[in-house]
Amino acid sequence: MKKVLITGAAGFIGSHICDRFMNEGWYVIGVDNLLTGSQKNIEHLSENKNFKFLEKDITDELKISDEIDLILHFACPASPVDYLNFPIETLMVGSIGTFHILNLAKEKKARYVFASTSEVYGDPEVHPQPESYWGNVNPNGTRSVYDESKRFSESLSMAYYRKYDLDVRILRIFNTYGPRMKLLDGRVVPNFIYQALNGMDLTVYGDGSQTRSFCYADDLVEGIFLVSEKEKIEHRVLNLGNPDEYKIIDFADIIIKKTGSNSKIIFKPLPLDDPKMRKPDITKAMENLHWIPKISLDEGIHKTIEFFHSQINQK
Ligand code: UDP
Repeated sequence: MKKVLITGAAGFIGSHICDRFMNEGWYVIGVDNLLTGSQKNIEHLSENKNFKFLEKDITDELKISDEIDLILHFACPASPVDYLNFPIETLMVGSIGTFHILNLAKEKKARYVFASTSEVYGDPEVHPQPESYWGNVNPNGTRSVYDESKRFSESLSMAYYRKYDLDVRILRIFNTYGPRMKLLDGRVVPNFIYQALNGMDLTVYGDGSQTRSFCYADDLVEGIFLVSEKEKIEHRVLNLGNPDEYKIIDFADIIIKKTGSNSKIIFKPLPLDDPKMRKPDITKAMENLHWIPKISLDEGIHKTIEFFHSQINQK
């Protein structure tokens, strides 16, 4: 039975990846320090004999006795609110944490897939963003703790590829949403849905003209799975996301309509260095993985609203 180790296993995306690999017949070792992840996301796997959870902080060296075929390195606070609350932890997981995970991959001769981000493009001057774009990042602004942590991880990962021929694959993940996002995680999708379902005003930052492109979690996980399984890859760095782009103000209207809420929109200050536009160029992923996001915003938001409804009712 093939074994995969997933860091950030109790997170939003990490936990969905655990599910996918379990369903595909893999043995899954999930690692998480539960700083921003939640045990609830993987509770349903706890009795499964093909799943093992290790509550560990990967900024400490990780010793694993099992053989491992594949490592998916997804541990990192990912919401701007979380990484601004945990700036040092974010930098450390993307430097010392990545160092430890790369050493583990080298020791186990495992394939290594790293969760990078569209944030490596910063506030982009090229639109949409292809993998060849180097980005426009403030190296010491508040968001830099996330951006530079991921950029450093990319650099370190490629150094292991060049120096040790480690099978490194880097995924630049664009805005993703779906069930298991935290109600109060601060990102736009949970914020707007939570506000709309509770009759609160929707908080649009700035004038709402900034854009984001939203990918449903299942589509993303499909892309991650295809990259992880592919024997020979054409490109070490790939964008994964849905190019379906919206102005944030229009997105607020969509959420109000979809929830049938009476909420109004209010405007709040734009966070520092908030990217003005973001949309992935996914030509490479489409050509090389034959992957394309299939779930429309309408359908994905519907499922996400149902999830948030159930969470609020449980409270
Ligand atoms: N945003 C907003 N209201 C909110 C939360 C976020 O207008 O309550 C905006 C935010 O300023 C950004 C976009 O929505 O322009 C996406 O923010 P998010 O925190 O989801 O992630 P980002 O793409 O910035 O990493």
